[in-house]
Amino acid sequence: MAVIAGNWKMHHGPRETEAYFERFRLTDAVRSHRLIVFPPAVSLTAAVACAGRDAAVRLGVQNVHWEDRGAFTGEISAPMARDAGAEYALVGHSERRHLFGETDDQVARKVEAVFRAGLTPLVCVGETLEERRAGRLEDVILRQLRAALYGAAGADAPLLVAYEPVWAIGTGETATPRDASHAHGLLRGALVEALGAERAAGTPILYGGSVKPENAAELLAAPDVDGVLVGGASLDPGSFLAIAEAAPLPR
Ligand code: PEP
Repeated sequence: MAVIAGNWKMHHGPRETEAYFERFRLTDAVRSHRLIVFPPAVSLTAAVACAGRDAAVRLGVQNVHWEDRGAFTGEISAPMARDAGAEYALVGHSERRHLFGETDDQVARKVEAVFRAGLTPLVCVGETLEERRAGRLEDVILRQLRAALYGAAGADAPLLVAYEPVWAIGTGETATPRDASHAHGLLRGALVEALGAERAAGTPILYGGSVKPENAAELLAAPDVDGVLVGGASLDPGSFLAIAEAAPLPR
């Protein structure tokens, strides 16, 4: 079973969300995978009303604050997201890190808050082009992952990880399946160290960065790639579902 996650970013308000799910037709092949959609928080209620009763589609939020409540204008908390029907939360997406200055420490606190609320975090890590060119891929992604796992310390619940090279997000550039497998192998090793072999083996590692129907099959067939996190191509239900159709069927 592959995990096919769609991050809508700042697209699709409640009415567009309804129109999206009217065009969302799930085949048996797609139903054999786990689909997770991350709409904007204001569209979560509409998404739950349209898709929430279908066990094949799970919903999440794109970001939460690390506190459960308080004077944090414009923020939402993990318990609120859960109350609104979310089961997952993205944490540490590169746009949060690079456009909004989110630090490793904040990522750790958010992971902790997500677990505390009973949600499942999808922790995103990835290097910039500059870091990659300087030979710092391993340093950067393992530092980001270990920091996030610090927030997972007391929790025994599942989590997901996404490797999303920053240079591949929204640029049309995609990592090769080999690049993805290499990075995923490094992340898997760090998960084994931190969580033990069994829990590490049960933690899906997704690839993200310009995944489209045309390149999904080869990425999803690559060793250690357990699924994909899709931005731009998830905005259209047809292309999102075509990506899910490209995933190898569970044996
Ligand atoms: C993302 O936002 O997580 C992402 C991978 O975006 P895109 O597919 O558009 O590169």
